[in-house]
Amino acid sequence: MSTEQLKIPQATAKRLPLYYRFLKNLHSSGKQRVSSAELSEAVKVDSATIRRDFSYFGALGKKGYGYNVNYLLTFFRKTLDQDELTKIALIGVGNLGTALLNYNFIKNNNTKIEMAFDVDESRVGQKVSNVPIYHLNDLEEKLGNDISVVILTVPAIAAQGITDRLEHTSVKGILNFTPARINVPDSIRIHHIDLAVELQALIYFLRNYPTELVN
Ligand code: ATP
Repeated sequence: MSTEQLKIPQATAKRLPLYYRFLKNLHSSGKQRVSSAELSEAVKVDSATIRRDFSYFGALGKKGYGYNVNYLLTFFRKTLDQDELTKIALIGVGNLGTALLNYNFIKNNNTKIEMAFDVDESRVGQKVSNVPIYHLNDLEEKLGNDISVVILTVPAIAAQGITDRLEHTSVKGILNFTPARINVPDSIRIHHIDLAVELQALIYFLRNYPTELVN
């Protein structure tokens, strides 16, 4: 995201890709306006939150008119740097890593996994979905200067050591799929996605809260 947008609260910033994806679909179906109620129903965020989020970037919907889809889309594309390709490296080509390599991120976002790393000699030198797999020993050399994001799908025990090596590279963000809670230097931002924890939380809610009270 560009620096001039840094005033947007982080909770709002996290919802931007969600809004962006939905607005892109609306735009390609030829729709020119959208109300906060329609948006709310589609992205499952309450409409008061949507109105507040949108007010941060000067998009003020008119009563009975809604928001201009084109305006919003242009804003989001710029804010999310969708005009610029973000190059990504994936570390750990196991089951989850392989699935992510096979998943076509570029379809929805301007992001591309350019390379992958592993320590398993049987994987090094291979390609998955046309993405080359290098040995972790060559990490710094292969990352070069234009990989800004790393996806971590290694065993938890390997996560901190690898993160420490990223401090002196061009990497600015880590998407951590391992259950490890990693320490990162100030120059790197980390987001955690722990699928097992998410699943457990869902099951807990299903057991303990009647469905109609969840929303
Ligand atoms: P997943 O947990 O993604 O389903 P898996 O069960 O197949 O994968 P894991 O043991 O979790 O295997 O390892 C994930 C991948 O990370 C494997 O391909 C493994 O060779 C690789 N790996 C293990 N240690 C390291 C390391 N230090 N650096 C890079 N890759 C590693």
